Amino acid sequence: MSFQLSDKFGRKINYLRMSVTDRCDFRCVYCMSEQMTFLPRAQLLTLEELEILGSAFVELGVSKIRITGGEPLIRKGILQLFQNLSQLSDLKELVLTTNGSQLEKMAKSLREAGVKRLNISFDSLKAKRFQEITRNGKLEKVVRGIDAAIQTGFERIKINAVILKNRNHDEVVDLVQFAVDKGIDISFIEEMPVGVVNSHDREEGFYSSEQIRRDLSRFFTLLPTTETTNGPAKYYQIPNTTTRVGFISPHSHNFCDSCNRVRVTTEGRLILCLGQENSVDLRRVIRANPGSTEPLKQAIIEAMAYKPKGHNFDLAAQPNILRYMNVTGG
Ligand code: SAM
Ligand code: SF4
Repeated sequence: MSFQLSDKFGRKINYLRMSVTDRCDFRCVYCMSEQMTFLPRAQLLTLEELEILGSAFVELGVSKIRITGGEPLIRKGILQLFQNLSQLSDLKELVLTTNGSQLEKMAKSLREAGVKRLNISFDSLKAKRFQEITRNGKLEKVVRGIDAAIQTGFERIKINAVILKNRNHDEVVDLVQFAVDKGIDISFIEEMPVGVVNSHDREEGFYSSEQIRRDLSRFFTLLPTTETTNGPAKYYQIPNTTTRVGFISPHSHNFCDSCNRVRVTTEGRLILCLGQENSVDLRRVIRANPGSTEPLKQAIIEAMAYKPKGHNFDLAAQPNILRYMNVTGG
């Protein structure tokens, strides 16, 4: 039988999220501060190194890779990485999280390069508000990107909306209606205290999944599904539509017991838990051993011993985690 990564709590690790750049054309208020300093390029993993990493993880039993960032689609040459990773025969799912700004021109090439499913961040249907939340984003351009993705025919497209009290909590019903009209899925995410943000107080801005569910239930029937994407989201089906509504609730619902994932940052640091600071430097191992992936695989296997039991997010103790979400990749 082939190898399967696992940690000391017996959790199977079969899902890798790779951040391919810390740079982004947006500056979302929950993700970044207004003035960001990005990493020098020499510190980033090259596309070749990202591919070596991806294939080492797949050889160790990872069957799903999500490419994230920063904004993955602004990294030069990224299509080649998708093409190369999609050739790995044991990789069952190659998926992408994007802010949608480049989808209008890239959706078709992404599908052709082997991307099966897309998560698109989308927090508001109001142009002015969309621009305020993203600090740079243009609503219409992202909607055209979503439409291009729908026409391209991905297996599944999902909108991700981070909901903040007094910023966009009044739009949850409209966002679900948008997803229903487009025939796509939607997940609501509770804000996580990752990185230092200066635009709002995270405790005051907290809007729970439970509250969103209550708001939605006045307009929609939400039927609980047993379906799982092996992730932290709980899904509900809206009857007579193809739309599923998910809730990712790190605060109100702790999902650590079934955690099946690890992350690699833009600099090649293996992050064992989004809610903990410890990490292992895989870039050093790759660069010290050109032409051989065995030391890398060994380092990954040994790192699993450091995967903690769970996160300790606490909105009152800001920030919990100093790294920004764009470095880790959400
Ligand atoms: N730029 C791409 C995007 O926005 O989809 C990919 C990277 S982004 C860091 C990945 C996901 O993390 C997005 O869905 C975003 O909404 C989410 N995210 C960023 N900061 C967050 C925070 N503090 N709490 C919860 N989710 C966050
Ligand atoms: Fe960029 Fe995504 Fe972070 Fe927004 S959430 S700033 S789009 S990386």
